[in-house]
Amino acid sequence: MILVANNEGTLGVPTTVGGLAAGAHALDAIEAGIRVIEADPSVRTVGRGGWPNLLCEMELDAAMMDGTTLRSGAVGALQGFLHPVSVAREIMRRLPHELLVGDGAARFAREIGADRADNLIADSRAAWQAWFDHELTPEQKRAWPEVELAPLCRHAIDPEAGRDTTVFLAQDKSGNLCSGTSTSGWGWKYPGRLGDSPIIGAGSYADTRYGAAACTGAGEMTIRCGTARSIVLYMKRGASVADAVYESAEDMRALHGGLLGRVTIHAIDACGNHQVVAVNGTGDNVYWLWDGHDKPRSLRAEAVAIQRSDIKPSATTIYGYGRGS
Ligand code: ASP
Repeated sequence: MILVANNEGTLGVPTTVGGLAAGAHALDAIEAGIRVIEADPSVRTVGRGGWPNLLCEMELDAAMMDGTTLRSGAVGALQGFLHPVSVAREIMRRLPHELLVGDGAARFAREIGADRADNLIADSRAAWQAWFDHELTPEQKRAWPEVELAPLCRHAIDPEAGRDTTVFLAQDKSGNLCSGTSTSGWGWKYPGRLGDSPIIGAGSYADTRYGAAACTGAGEMTIRCGTARSIVLYMKRGASVADAVYESAEDMRALHGGLLGRVTIHAIDACGNHQVVAVNGTGDNVYWLWDGHDKPRSLRAEAVAIQRSDIKPSATTIYGYGRGS
């Protein structure tokens, strides 16, 4: 058994470890852990308490993958529900589809009686309002929301600058390898923007025969590289989990233009090995490892620089995390 979860998963790790130790299926253990994080408003980039899009709407993304059946379930830009990870799980259970977005995802969540929630907390609204007050011209304020949003995307923010998506990778007692992700995505994003968290193959992937991987940070980069799927494929072709992760970081050197920033890559293999690498990271990236025996340990990710990133002060840094400091 093994669990790797990023630092954002701290509050859910005990629940997932408890489930795995008691013999739960990895999907159940991961879902239960992520639900704790989604419901806690102190976790500022997942579920309730996350950051809104440019229109001050909370759009949540999540995915789960069962590495034994290769079934997945994912939701993108889901509004009004507390547990996107459970809506994703139910897509896997009840539908012949793998991914629902926007209004269709919300309709499905209503149909299955998913818990509703207003996920925008007062502090996030205040941060958005501060951004609106400072960054928009008087003309834009008068016309709002009938303004061109595209130029305002320059304020889209890497939650990694503060905290990020939560990702969980686990192997249970029976050997099933599974993955789970949940996030509010980049704050101040263009409405409808999906990051990598709901994109199977980019933000996460699991195959019980070889391994599993999940990413946080600049989802645009892992979407372009198909990062999570690549890692599992490199392992299938004989690479160790460490080499597979390095190779996927290497792949990112080919990216030119677009949004370039930080990505943290988490991976485990079917033999209980793991690797976590912070691409363009600052060296302060930590994650949780539980090896099936001792207590979960907090470890530091290895930092790998692949290119000069375009990281600039972001709106959550200026109007959110940085406020008052
Ligand atoms: N990967 C997420 C996204 O692109 C954000 C993050 O993990 O920081 O939406």
